[in-house]
Amino acid sequence: MESCSQHYEALRQTLQEHMPDKDLSVIEQAIAYAQEKHKAQKRKDGSPYIIHPLAVAQIVADMGLDTDAILGAILHDCIEDTDASFDDIAKRFGTVAAELVEGVTKLTRANFSSSEEQQMENLRKMFMAMSKDIRVVLIKIADRLHNMRTMQYQTPEKQIIKCRETMDVYAPLAHRLGMQKMKWELEDIALRYLDPAGYEDIMAYLKAHKEQDEAFMRAIQERITTRLTEMGIQGTIYGRIKHVYSIYRKMKQQGKSLEELYDIYAFRVVVDTIPDCYNVLGHVHDLFNLVPGRFKDYISTPKPNMYQSLHTTVIGKQGIPFEVQIRTWQMHETAEYGIAAHWKYKQGAGAGDEKDFEWVRRLLESQQDTDAEDYVNSLKIDMFDDEVFVFTPKGKIVSLPAGSTPIDFAYAIHSGVGNALVGAKVNARIVNIDAKLQNGDIVEIITSKTAKGPSRDWLNICQSNQARTKIKQWFKKEKREENVLHGKSSFELEMKRLLLPLPAAMDEELEKALLKKLSFDNWDDMYAAIGYGGLTAVKAVGRIRDDINKAIKAEKASQTPVRVAPEGEPEKQNRHAANGVIVEDIDSCMIKFSKCCTPVPGDAIVGYITKGFGVSIHRADCPNTAGIRDPRQAARWVRVRWDNVEEQPFETTLELDCLTRDGLLLDVAMVMTAARIRVKELYGKDMPGGHSVFTVRFEVKNIAELESVRNRLLNIRDVLGSRRGQN
Ligand code: MN
Repeated sequence: MESCSQHYEALRQTLQEHMPDKDLSVIEQAIAYAQEKHKAQKRKDGSPYIIHPLAVAQIVADMGLDTDAILGAILHDCIEDTDASFDDIAKRFGTVAAELVEGVTKLTRANFSSSEEQQMENLRKMFMAMSKDIRVVLIKIADRLHNMRTMQYQTPEKQIIKCRETMDVYAPLAHRLGMQKMKWELEDIALRYLDPAGYEDIMAYLKAHKEQDEAFMRAIQERITTRLTEMGIQGTIYGRIKHVYSIYRKMKQQGKSLEELYDIYAFRVVVDTIPDCYNVLGHVHDLFNLVPGRFKDYISTPKPNMYQSLHTTVIGKQGIPFEVQIRTWQMHETAEYGIAAHWKYKQGAGAGDEKDFEWVRRLLESQQDTDAEDYVNSLKIDMFDDEVFVFTPKGKIVSLPAGSTPIDFAYAIHSGVGNALVGAKVNARIVNIDAKLQNGDIVEIITSKTAKGPSRDWLNICQSNQARTKIKQWFKKEKREENVLHGKSSFELEMKRLLLPLPAAMDEELEKALLKKLSFDNWDDMYAAIGYGGLTAVKAVGRIRDDINKAIKAEKASQTPVRVAPEGEPEKQNRHAANGVIVEDIDSCMIKFSKCCTPVPGDAIVGYITKGFGVSIHRADCPNTAGIRDPRQAARWVRVRWDNVEEQPFETTLELDCLTRDGLLLDVAMVMTAARIRVKELYGKDMPGGHSVFTVRFEVKNIAELESVRNRLLNIRDVLGSRRGQN
């Protein structure tokens, strides 16, 4: 059993080396606090629990991280396993340390084991995304490393799960963060449990060849050392066998047995300066034969994880090839500790945050490697804003666009789940279906067989195209009638807005041509498409607008003014004034002002003989007068003009296009009152995009008065435009 004081002594020594001037009392307080909190717990091997956080703190201290990170490591299991709270830790040891502990706790609670290969990248991304501070990741990797070192006390099932997870998530992360040493150790331990036979084979082989290997490495080391001494170059040379998992992987990849695998020796020459690196390289190539195609200069072109070294493979007299890596001490540090080495330099050089920034910048710039982008993507802790990673209740990971809601989640699972959605739980709590999902949330969709299907609002709530498409599909299929109605009204609104005639007022030829242009067989199909969102009304109208206008122009040019005088009858000058309008050629008839365009004296007008309701008066530019050009209806259109004798009120309508804001209705009402206009009706309607349309029905004497009112209305703030009503 390991003793606690032994661990603390080692930690204290490391810290004194790294930060000789630091007051260690806060770290001692944290240890005492963690010890007290964990006192009821034991490790699987029976030792006091505090051994674990101390060991993790030791690993973190070896990386050279700062005091906050060491505090975070000592306290890393306190929130998860004891009654310690974030607030309590923050009060005693500062917010930064408490946030680190909280970050580690979040990662501990998330489930990173998954058997699906394609999920691995997402898992790693989520891991990074969940840790807003890179130190959280480093502490978590240290935590995992110590747990791997004590893996023998776990059950066989747990061993497999943890080792798989280590291979899938922790080792690749260590690699991406440039921490070779930790990566190797994680991989080797994991391999021991995942393929014990394969691991043992390699170990046995290495053991059997130990003397031979050592003699070989000694000889090479001596040759290089001698040469460097001769040349007056300061350097340290290490020889080693590559780590077990890298040998294992090479065997698998190249399909070779251990005996056939030559490339297992690696030498490392560490020198003071970069010129020395290239010097040493020259001497190595002089001493041994170069294996072509194996030289790599990672000094001039660092790997994306900041790794720098010269690599070359050579063959000695024995005919055994081996790799030589040449680097400076600083490169060595970076190679061993990766991103963590950054803290070491920072503390040593006393540099500020600028160096932090510099590091990230360099990282982002070094994109030469093919997987650089991948690496950078996975490192973008804060820059990870476009994706969110959540779990199904069974632990499957789902990646969604940032800002996604339970609706997006449901449709990502299956459209059937989305269509039956009636509610959602996040982390076992009921939430609104428009709740924004956070990284690591466990999302559960509540469905019902009697669900009515998606609502149109969902189209505005959901973030993913997938959800949007599936919701639209549902509407397309399930709600044709409703779609036709919805679509028709938005289409007609748009047509009216542009003063175009409605399909009902068009002649057959034109209708056919327009439908063809729109690629629909009939209007209902097109309305349905607009209704479910496959097409917008603006787009549809935009596509036919020019054709309609052209048709109207052509008609106007080719046709003589409408005459209604029956053939053979002399033109009479009979006039009949009723309600201020004179209908030419007709003695006596009922006059009605059409509701669609509400003409007022001064407007150009035409008359239409209705069945049983006399003559209805339209403005000449009313879309419903398009039938005037239909020869079959020509007989029903009559010429009319205003009789200016009478002065009576005429009802008319204006539609105002406005930006939606409070109080606008009141402003409109005030203007009308000030103008002494009698208002019959006034209402507003919200339109998409923060717009609204106000409709005012009121009485005026003539076009002049109408225009004056219109100008006043247009002076109101946020009133963008106006048009004569057509309803
Ligand atoms: Mn732990």
